[in-house]
Amino acid sequence: MNEISTSAINPWQRVRASRTALLATGYLALYVLLDWASYVEPLRNTNITPWNPNTGVVMALLLARGARWAPLVALGDFVGEILTDRTPPPWRVLVLSSVFLACVYALAAWLLRRRGLERPIGSPKSAAWFVGGTALASGIAAVGYVGIMVSGGELTHADGAAAVARYWIGEFNGIIALTPVLGLRINPRTAWETVRRSPRDLVMHTVGAVSGVSLAFALAAARDVRLFYPLFAPVTWIALRYGVAGAMISVSLVQAALVAALELTPGSIPLFDVQFPLLSLGVTALFLGALATQRDSTLRQMRDQDAVLQRSLRFAVAGQLASALTHELNQPMTALISYVRSSEIMSEGQPGADPRLAGTLRKAGEEAARAADVLRRLRSFYRGQGARLEPTDALAVCAHVAEALQDRMRRNRVECALRDAADLPQIMIDRTQLEIVVHNLLVNSLDAFAAMPAGAGPRRIEITGQPHGAEILIAVDDSGPGIDASVTEKLFEPFVTSKISGMGLGLSLSRTLLRHQGGDLWCEPSRLGGARFVIRLPIQAESQTEL
Ligand code: ADP
Repeated sequence: MNEISTSAINPWQRVRASRTALLATGYLALYVLLDWASYVEPLRNTNITPWNPNTGVVMALLLARGARWAPLVALGDFVGEILTDRTPPPWRVLVLSSVFLACVYALAAWLLRRRGLERPIGSPKSAAWFVGGTALASGIAAVGYVGIMVSGGELTHADGAAAVARYWIGEFNGIIALTPVLGLRINPRTAWETVRRSPRDLVMHTVGAVSGVSLAFALAAARDVRLFYPLFAPVTWIALRYGVAGAMISVSLVQAALVAALELTPGSIPLFDVQFPLLSLGVTALFLGALATQRDSTLRQMRDQDAVLQRSLRFAVAGQLASALTHELNQPMTALISYVRSSEIMSEGQPGADPRLAGTLRKAGEEAARAADVLRRLRSFYRGQGARLEPTDALAVCAHVAEALQDRMRRNRVECALRDAADLPQIMIDRTQLEIVVHNLLVNSLDAFAAMPAGAGPRRIEITGQPHGAEILIAVDDSGPGIDASVTEKLFEPFVTSKISGMGLGLSLSRTLLRHQGGDLWCEPSRLGGARFVIRLPIQAESQTEL
């Protein structure tokens, strides 16, 4: 069945192309908006302003997506200057400056990405690389940009030094304040959980930041008191509590609030004078935040390791328990089989015996033998002994297991369809182990349906098989609610369950059994709307994988 492998390719490519177009449009819109909003106190009608948050967006894009986005950066710069400059320079000068700036920042991003900065800043070391790299890049950008403007006749030589300082601080400050924020990958659920756990902290931090900005503004508005220390206390406090995310979000908000307040108040101090204190605030907050983030992630790693150890211990205990149980049950099972056989033989010689008795005893004998077989396999599995490989029709095994669950499916109004690929070859596998896996998958789907409200749409399970090179793929799709977000990440780990009475061992055991035979098991979203579990198995038996 080709649908398993090919149906996903084209829609994905289409989704990727439309995502790229969306990102490019969003980038240009945000860039031009910020360029326009920050066009304050320009030097001689050039684009040299003391605050360039739009460059923060440039670095965020190049760090996240790589230097191949440099042409878009050059285009954004060109369009931004045309739209926001009061008297834009001639287009030749503009093209040269846009290409130059894009090259400088693309090179900086390329170097920083080699230091792992395509990921959010999470340690003082990566913060140091970021601050050092962007300070240097914005310095080179400032010197080059001013040089181009001077040689294009837009600025005089006498303006040079002041223009470089103004441009550099604007660029550097814009990057420090905005790039770390745009690079954040905030999980809304975790963020909401943090806020929900301590809403009082959030209120106090907000009050602190608002008071800091108001006090700094009040002092600044008094013209001769240019102190910005009140801003440091709340931002430091927030950085230590929420790490890089809290630190840099608060720095951006504080910067935007202060710049807006100063700009909206004619007669207050020039923005350029505020930029150095704001830059120190940004750099301090970034380092403190990075330190706090690193501390938090070290603590989390320790807790995760502890949890993994706990789970391994429980898995080992479960193995021991299973081994002990199989050992203890083996003898009674053997006795049970011989008693049933004896009863069968005795019933044959009884005149007038109910003819159904012999049939029932035969079935009881077969079931007891099957149970004994399962116990034997489990025991040898936990003892590390190999599986019993035999040529098997995998879909026939699925059909057999689905048949055994017919009654439960009927009661839950679940429709189960089995779709066979005509050329599905037989595979060398331990049949009982495959039965255990398929049984577990089908029962999980049935459990998932049981947790859904009645009448919530059709309940379908589809089992499909397809050859895939030297392997076969068996997929079990259902139209249930899908995998609960609380278990998605650790689905195949032992003791992970979303059910009140679940053990969380089914999937981990299934994957272990399949991997032991050179196969695998994974989960993906189903086109039926629920979960899709795919079993991969080699057609020829592989040497047993060491687990
Ligand atoms: P258990 O059944 O004891 O919970 P499993 O390892 O079999 O253990 O499954 C782990 C978890 O995976 C289940 O608790 C359930 O949350 C999720 N799960 C497995 N299969 C499905 C499915 N078809 N639909 C929704 N959730 C599923």
